[in-house]
Amino acid sequence: MIRTTALTKRYGKVTAVEDLDLHVAEGDRFGFLGPNGSGKTTTVRMLLGLVLPTSGRVGLFGSSICRDSLAQIGSLVEGPAFIGHLSGRANLRLSDAAGPRGSRSSRRRRIEDALEQVGLSGVDRRPVKAYSLGMRQRLGLASALLRRPRLLVLDEPTNGLDPQGIREVRDLLLKLNAEGTTLFLSSHLLSEVEALCSRIAVLDRGRMVLQDDLSAFRRPTGLIEVRTPDLYQAEQLLGKRVEGTAPDGLLLVRHDDPAQLNVQLVRNDIRVVTLRPRLRSLEAAVLAATGNGSDRLAGAKDPR
Ligand code: ATP
Repeated sequence: MIRTTALTKRYGKVTAVEDLDLHVAEGDRFGFLGPNGSGKTTTVRMLLGLVLPTSGRVGLFGSSICRDSLAQIGSLVEGPAFIGHLSGRANLRLSDAAGPRGSRSSRRRRIEDALEQVGLSGVDRRPVKAYSLGMRQRLGLASALLRRPRLLVLDEPTNGLDPQGIREVRDLLLKLNAEGTTLFLSSHLLSEVEALCSRIAVLDRGRMVLQDDLSAFRRPTGLIEVRTPDLYQAEQLLGKRVEGTAPDGLLLVRHDDPAQLNVQLVRNDIRVVTLRPRLRSLEAAVLAATGNGSDRLAGAKDPR
């Protein structure tokens, strides 16, 4: 859906994006991570044809950027702009994306569909200036959905939202993806990307340092967490394999095979409440790839 080749953007002496080879496939929930100033917005703008690359190329749906390919993309970049004293519905009516050449009834249907998708179909004539931030962001998404896009490109879609708003937007994006829309979203929040995305690229000072499936980042660490009320007996049995214990009955065991470990514990009359392999966190993977560069990324959920 998106394939960039050696994409580069310079502003005078500043290299905002350098040699970027992105690959986003149909159905992906693609997270584009990077600290502030790493070049995410510049990349998003190049993908949408809003900024011309200094060199390299952007491929969309198998061809270069053109009116047809852009018509299949819905986007939300740097916060939606709406006319405050008009209602959400009236704002959408002003958008070309509802199909400027379509009939009045088909435009109306598109608008109602988009409002329904984002959960705003019940809103009355309330002006947009009376909306909460979460409602505004959802209206922005509705505006991006008017074209019924195959691909949604979103720059920091949960910026400024409270936890409730973040959850609403996240649930909506997951639903749209399950219905077939490919997602490309930029964020500086590790936790957001970890909760939403299936595939991830990490940008650091304009260069891509990682691009892979989330599952590849989150590979096993060789440690298994065992929760047991028989902590002392388990420690005695496992000896040097125990890497650590916690007072609430959590044992950290170095072992490659969870099933085997479970059998060993149970055969020795040690009760197992839970047993699960500890996976490497996305933050650890990013840190390993970027050294101290990624400490400017915010909000890892489960740092280890
Ligand atoms: P943020 O998360 O803060 O939005 P970002 O990862 O989106 O950051 P960009 O906004 O793409 O990063 O900026 C990348 C670099 O390019 C920064 O050093 C920025 O100052 C520079 N830059 C971006 N746009 C311009 C411009 N129009 N003119 C000059 N420099 C620019």
